[in-house]
Amino acid sequence: MKALIIGAGIGGMAAAAALRQQGIECDVFEAVKEIKPVGAAISVWSNGVKCMNHLGMGHIMDELGGPMRNMAYQDGKTGQVMTQFSLKPLIDEVGERPCPVSRAGLQSMMVDSWGRDSVQFDKRIERVEETEQGVSAYFTDGTVAHGDLMIAADGARSVVRGYVLGMELERRYAGYVNWNGLVAADALIAPLDQWTTFVGEGKRVSVMPISDQRFYFFFDVPLPVGLEENRATLKDDLKGYFAGWADPVQKLIDALDPETTNRIEIHDVEPFDTFVKGRVALLGDSAHSTTPDIGQGGCSAMEDAVVLGMAFADTQDIESALQAYQSKRHERAKDLVLKARKRCDVTHGKNMKVTQAWYDELKQEQGDNIMAGLKETIIGGPLG
Ligand code: FAD
Repeated sequence: MKALIIGAGIGGMAAAAALRQQGIECDVFEAVKEIKPVGAAISVWSNGVKCMNHLGMGHIMDELGGPMRNMAYQDGKTGQVMTQFSLKPLIDEVGERPCPVSRAGLQSMMVDSWGRDSVQFDKRIERVEETEQGVSAYFTDGTVAHGDLMIAADGARSVVRGYVLGMELERRYAGYVNWNGLVAADALIAPLDQWTTFVGEGKRVSVMPISDQRFYFFFDVPLPVGLEENRATLKDDLKGYFAGWADPVQKLIDALDPETTNRIEIHDVEPFDTFVKGRVALLGDSAHSTTPDIGQGGCSAMEDAVVLGMAFADTQDIESALQAYQSKRHERAKDLVLKARKRCDVTHGKNMKVTQAWYDELKQEQGDNIMAGLKETIIGGPLG
């Protein structure tokens, strides 16, 4: 049996690893010549780390995971700690740690783990054709590949999604712009083993420790979509949006390199239930594109891959396996997208009264409520 995997991102490489575990041959096709990640880092939460272990890629987490042992929220303006707590009780309860990792490192090591020479780069799918015998991928360079099934992990702007759903979906602007990048970890900005988030005015500034004494940072600002992007004014723009914010925030803006800072208008896609048509399955962002507000998009792609592998462990009948994959994944994936959307609105001041109530709650928080929410999300994954 041969699978065509479309996309060599987190989803595609996780799917290839899962199918290989079931003895299924995979040909992986990636549109770009060289993968350039859209974000600087991601937090792989414990459910994602469990999936990486299951898929035989736990060593990547060990090598790249940063020392995120504590969590804190601080008032953006005054810098005062609103809540600060150890993540140990959560890690003990769910049985795995979270790993914030450099995205370039993660994607590169996932490709290496599969075999870089076995990924066909510069192959952009434009059309799918299915027969009773198999499925064909037509690429923009005029070439065609044939397989028994197709896993389309071609991202939030998936081409294959139109084939599976029979219609195109619009992405929905979530209402804020995110700037992200990496800086040298600095205790004057935040403790080196802590995920620290400064909040106020519906904005947030966050730093997470990743490997090699670096911080992954991001700034979120509610803004209209389509504003001009200009690296030359990036620092000044952030200084303006965060005028009057506490010293660590100013230090972070001073420390960042505009040339390597990403600016992303955050979108998601309205959740849908159909991930599969015949021998073709959507996986990762092509199936469920979320805002990053609960850090679960990539983890969800890893979960998809684990469930896909489990489905083929149960049956080698392609259409039955893909149907089983769909029925086990669509509710969970939808739940994560909607949870992230809800969190997004509270964090980014969609209704400032609600956001202010959340700031007030944070001042009373001992960590238990936040960890209970994180736990619920984590144990809802396929590996518990
Ligand atoms: P992608 O990463 O988009 O990969 C798709 C691949 O398919 C790409 O390599 C692309 O080049 C290729 N491709 C596209 N079109 C074609 C085509 N026509 N033919 C062939 N190949 C094609 N997730 C987390 O778990 N934790 C986080 O902390 C987190 N933070 C985030 C922060 C930000 C700012 C953003 C934007 C996202 C974040 N995410 C996070 C989400 C995560 O990045 C995505 O969910 C994840 O990258 C999805 O992986 P994917 O492989 O499905 O899609």
